[in-house]
Amino acid sequence: MQAPPGQGSPPARKAPARKAPPRQQKPPARTAPQQTPPPAPLTPAQVIAAILSALGAALTAAQLVTLLAKIMAVAGIGLLALRAVAVLMMSWPADVLEGTGPAQRHAIRMNATRRAQFMLSACQRVQAAVVAARSQGTPVLDAIRKAMAAEQRWLAAHVHASQNRIAAASAVDGMADAYGNLLGWNSVPDSRCTPECRNANHKNFYADRPPAIGYPGSTHPNCRCWPSAPFKGARVLPST
Ligand SMILES: [Zn+2]
Repeated sequence: MQAPPGQGSPPARKAPARKAPPRQQKPPARTAPQQTPPPAPLTPAQVIAAILSALGAALTAAQLVTLLAKIMAVAGIGLLALRAVAVLMMSWPADVLEGTGPAQRHAIRMNATRRAQFMLSACQRVQAAVVAARSQGTPVLDAIRKAMAAEQRWLAAHVHASQNRIAAASAVDGMADAYGNLLGWNSVPDSRCTPECRNANHKNFYADRPPAIGYPGSTHPNCRCWPSAPFKGARVLPST
């Protein structure tokens, strides 16, 4: 009488396995592909991509909230934090183009990405403040107001850096018009100069391939570096 237990268990194991194939066949049917959120936890890159496209499409804070509410909820960001940050994001000035050279195009793309990254970080920080207020039993709106004051300062620094990137890229495009795609890097190698700028001094870079450290003048706040004609035989800085 060993057969019944032995025969009994394999079908029991097979039963759940048989259920799986029909489930796998459902996706190809594609009845409602956009209605179900991605089941796996979102990667930061996925959230950034969604924010990038929403920031490009939204004209008002309300539209931004509508476009992002679902994906932000999946990413753990509540509506209160999203609404507050969306209003802040609308105060971010649009990039003013001085030309259409390759360096400025890179700077525009970089600025858009940094803006999206800032929005996610801001949402996460404000959400953390909301969670902390709730767990401590303190007023949530006060916590949001306080968090947003900090975000306003962060935003000002990011906007400044973005404008700096455009100005630096504009200078690079101008030099590229005069000397070609290969350009020289100049820094002021005094005590205020950072190691990366000092290392880049009198090396070359390509206008259409931003160096890993950024274009001269945008490597860090108060970067005093500038582009020039290329240095003969100098090494080319690694690019991104
Ligand atoms: Zn510098």
